[in-house]
Amino acid sequence: MKNICIIGSGYVGLVTGACFAELGNKVICVDNDVKKIKMLKKNILPFYEPGLKELINKNRSKLSFTSSIKDGVEKSEIVFITVGTPSRDDGSADLSCVERVATEIAHSINNYKLIVEKSTVPVETGEKVKYTIKRNIVKKIEFDVASNPEFLREGQAINDFFHPDRIIIGVETKKAEKILTELYKPICAPILVTDIKSAELIKHASNSFLATKISFINAVANICELVGADITKVAEGMGLDSRIGKSFLNAGPGFGGSCFPKDVDAFYWISKKLGYDFNLLYEVKKINETQKQNIIKKVEDALWIVANKIIAVLGLSFKPDTDDIRMSPAIDIIKSLQKKGAKIKAYDPKAMKKSKDVLKNVEYCKDIYSAVKNSDCILVMTEWNEFKNIDFEKVKRIMKNPILIDTRNIYNPEKLIKLGFVYKGVGR
Ligand code: NAD
Repeated sequence: MKNICIIGSGYVGLVTGACFAELGNKVICVDNDVKKIKMLKKNILPFYEPGLKELINKNRSKLSFTSSIKDGVEKSEIVFITVGTPSRDDGSADLSCVERVATEIAHSINNYKLIVEKSTVPVETGEKVKYTIKRNIVKKIEFDVASNPEFLREGQAINDFFHPDRIIIGVETKKAEKILTELYKPICAPILVTDIKSAELIKHASNSFLATKISFINAVANICELVGADITKVAEGMGLDSRIGKSFLNAGPGFGGSCFPKDVDAFYWISKKLGYDFNLLYEVKKINETQKQNIIKKVEDALWIVANKIIAVLGLSFKPDTDDIRMSPAIDIIKSLQKKGAKIKAYDPKAMKKSKDVLKNVEYCKDIYSAVKNSDCILVMTEWNEFKNIDFEKVKRIMKNPILIDTRNIYNPEKLIKLGFVYKGVGR
């Protein structure tokens, strides 16, 4: 049993905290958002993640919530930093939260601590964290800094924590290695121990590689459209090659979410700062932006004049099983269509509450059928399971025009065309 402090109780911090508590550790979750801490104390979660509420409830006796870093750090041996590292306007990672937290940790250290960066950070951040703590520490107390990047996926975060493909531990001392390998001992997964810089690079390189795969398949999808080939078959054929693998080969509206866009930007930026022009990543980002324009063009091709047409958007989150709309392609695409005068009706099983803060003049609907009623076109943006079993005969009856734009290629085009729909997928 370890005493753990998690600083930053967001998607990563809360999941990590609840899962470490489930493994028998005593965990203090800290956040400077006082409202969030108050909610957590009342058992209200600030976001939707399947199974998280139940896991927190189950481990109440081992989990506590506070807005005081001092309180959390003093009572813990291991301190995880899980604050946000958003993009600045120039694409670089904004590490001000990490710096602030490192300074506060330094002021609160009362005995040996292992400070672990779990937030996604550019290479060499560990050195800066160490330097910041050294500069601000009041007493002469021993501490270590380590990197333990997080790979969980929203929507399946708890399963990813307990069954990860690998655990990466970047350390400088044997003591830090021992503490972290013991902490992760109950989890059956390969543990790769590296230096801190390599661990930091593993995270940026992994996310950038996955984003590259998505942009690559989207580029191939565009060629498929030019020649009348089917991207789903091309991807299937490519994916059967074990060297390539079938994951992340789904053509669509481009990647979104709080990680890929910002991590590609940050990796490009830090590489440039270090003296290497990682142009490949620039192209990955460019293809991703173009892909959103391609979806808008599909809507225009289908509707001709977009102004005053009613578009029913199904799905607002950047992927299914989450309410996260950060950098969701749906949000950008809706905003562009609104600029062209379209009237938007929308439905998402979980993400409507968050969308209301960023998308105005949208008619939010209680279910799929109220969204599509009287619409001129359906735009499916997220592949929620609920959308896979739509009664299209009913939909056709209640729509104004049976036009369907399937940006996730989840439907069978032949069936829909047979039913009388105008069907447009991506790359087929
Ligand atoms: P988030 O925005 O959901 O959570 C960050 C939390 O940190 C917020 O609750 C915020 O209030 C808190 N915070 C900010 N400054 C603070 C401070 N000074 N003291 C205490 N709390 C503070 O972000 P997230 O999605 O959990 O991501 C956190 C990090 O993990 C990022 O670097 C991200 O790239 C990385 N990551 C995210 C995911 C994911 O799927 N969300 C997956 C892997 C890695």
